[in-house]
Amino acid sequence: MPFSNKVGLIFSEDYQSYNFGKNHPLRPLRLALAYSLMEKLGLLENPRLEIISPRICTKEELAMVHSLEYIDAVKKLSDNPEDKTVYASRYGLGSGDNPIFKGMYEPSALICGGSLVAAEKVWNDDSFNILFNFAGGLHHALKDRASGFCIFNDIAVAIAQLKKLQKGIRIAYLDIDCHHGDGVQWLFYDDPDVLTISYHESGQFLFPGTGEINEEGEGKGKGFSINFPLLPGTNNKMYLNLFRKTIPRILETYQPDILITQLGVDTYFADPLTQMGLSIQAYRDIAQTIKTCAKDYCQNKWLALGGGGYLMTAVPRAWSLFLAKMLDVDVDNKLPESWIEEVKQNVPYENTPYMLWDRADKSEVDLLANPEVAKKMIEYINSLIKICEEKFLPPLTKR
Ligand SMILES: [Zn+2]
Repeated sequence: MPFSNKVGLIFSEDYQSYNFGKNHPLRPLRLALAYSLMEKLGLLENPRLEIISPRICTKEELAMVHSLEYIDAVKKLSDNPEDKTVYASRYGLGSGDNPIFKGMYEPSALICGGSLVAAEKVWNDDSFNILFNFAGGLHHALKDRASGFCIFNDIAVAIAQLKKLQKGIRIAYLDIDCHHGDGVQWLFYDDPDVLTISYHESGQFLFPGTGEINEEGEGKGKGFSINFPLLPGTNNKMYLNLFRKTIPRILETYQPDILITQLGVDTYFADPLTQMGLSIQAYRDIAQTIKTCAKDYCQNKWLALGGGGYLMTAVPRAWSLFLAKMLDVDVDNKLPESWIEEVKQNVPYENTPYMLWDRADKSEVDLLANPEVAKKMIEYINSLIKICEEKFLPPLTKR
């Protein structure tokens, strides 16, 4: 075998069909621009990388997580959005967040199938240690309803499949999207074999409103849901300090058989839907910590999925940096001219970036002007580190 430690990138042009319409913030363009940037940076030519096509997952596979009633409702509305025999709102569909669109079933099932292919590959094929499906990560979808731009929960379906492939498998799920990873948390809330960890802007300020510290799991799963609700404006330094002092400890203590990450990048300071303060530099550091943890504490198996992120010029850069880290490639801090042109044409209304990552930490500048606020935020981060030590870690050792 010429290369072990291969990285698989799951991608299809058909992902573009997961499209709620031109006024919806989740624009498929971000996937196209991400793939294009990865290509123009030369990452797709890397000998360790293999591009893998997703498949449409079957109704039976969806039913490992979703109710048949819900799956049928999505299919009917997909075939005929005017179908009045289906009470769409009962299933979370047709609202502002999750508008019904013709043909929505197939791309939803394709994204889900992409995460399934990725899960199967990373588990069954030892030549791969990382699989990345950046169209996936639809973490809000619930058993019988769509939520927060998510129709089917590809993460939960991938977890269910892994549990089927390996009895007793222990899975750590880390969600860094700015929104709480509620769907995955609730679907495995009583399961000690699925540890869910979510880093997010506090539900006091942001959809879906959950993800408090006291949401710790129930029954046998008590202690196996972990939440880090963060304050708006949390900057690189604060975030990374907390991340490095908690995530490696949690994973080292739990010793999972595999790590799954949801890599939403809507924690970016200029994201239009959120109020966090990270710059793209932070994602390089987060990627490094995750990669080391996957290798040291998670049997060197890492299933990476995408997630939120609503600036077309930011998401592709963040995910390209994740992919570069997965491949151990050092990239220069500049953007290919041809990609800059592509961005100018496709998103003329966003500021055109010229650097791959921005160090400029706008939140840090804001906080320097407000030392009292900064002090409170640092104290809050320190309190979370303490809570992790005293409350989150002890139940994990009992496993
Ligand atoms: Zn999000």
